Amino acid sequence: MVAEVPATRVALVTGAAQGIGEAIALQLADDGLDIALNDISQKVDQLSAVAKVIEGKGRRALVVTGDVTVEEDVAAMVRKTAAELGALDVMVANAGIFLFKPLLDTSVEEWERMLAINGKGVFLSIKYAAKQMIEQGRGGRIICAASIAGLKGSQICGIYCASKFAVRGLVQSASQELKEYGITVNAYCPGFITTPMVALPGDETNGGTGATMKKLTKYPVEFGTVSQVACVVSYLAKPETAFVTGQSMIIDGGLNMS
Ligand code: NAD
Repeated sequence: MVAEVPATRVALVTGAAQGIGEAIALQLADDGLDIALNDISQKVDQLSAVAKVIEGKGRRALVVTGDVTVEEDVAAMVRKTAAELGALDVMVANAGIFLFKPLLDTSVEEWERMLAINGKGVFLSIKYAAKQMIEQGRGGRIICAASIAGLKGSQICGIYCASKFAVRGLVQSASQELKEYGITVNAYCPGFITTPMVALPGDETNGGTGATMKKLTKYPVEFGTVSQVACVVSYLAKPETAFVTGQSMIIDGGLNMS
């Protein structure tokens, strides 16, 4: 039995200092939720700036820095969110990294970092959010960043693809495990979205991703915006989407079809 939806719901968004995570946090604030914002501690100033914007919208905001690969950090960010904002209703496991490299050039260290952030980070986010939601007894929404790279392998980013397939496996399994608690678990699968992760053409400052972008744009791809992703997450976060779970929502301008 799941209790009634409260007047004000609370979301926690990981990787919320910039890009898609920031846009999701702002969209959920527009939807009337109070927002806890997570990113690594080096980005605390960016998080504080996002928090100010959210407060300007008349919502409460909380900055909870931490590394999603560290179990105690994830447990603590969920604990602080519930303690200071009153609950956790929506968890957005958005934090992630990208690597543009063929498998044959990829090191074991790169593999371990990729799977730690994109895989373990999502696993821990699901685990601790679900425990909190089960304790509250009023259901919840867990929404995880996958990618179109989690639908089909690619010659340009093999271990990134593997990490995003892992996300979809976690999402499908958790959706089955958490159904009895009224918790839905879904993934969003963006295509090419203009963010610092894939920096703009000509930008060589962001870890070489300017070059990455140029290479990517040799393919007939279209770039979407962060708000085009955020509105899909907003939909998945709604109480009304209780019958949508275990899904991978593709946001790529029709490049892939489900
Ligand atoms: P981004 O690099 O702009 O932002 C990602 C954020 O995650 C950064 O602020 C970063 O500091 C944070 N982060 C990284 N490691 C972390 C950790 N260990 N703990 C906490 N935070 C951490 O990227 P983005 O483009 O906004 O991507 C957001 C998500 O969407 C990622 O999971 C990404 O894989 C996915 N995605 C992006 C695209 C795209 O084209 N931009 C496409 C498909 C999927």
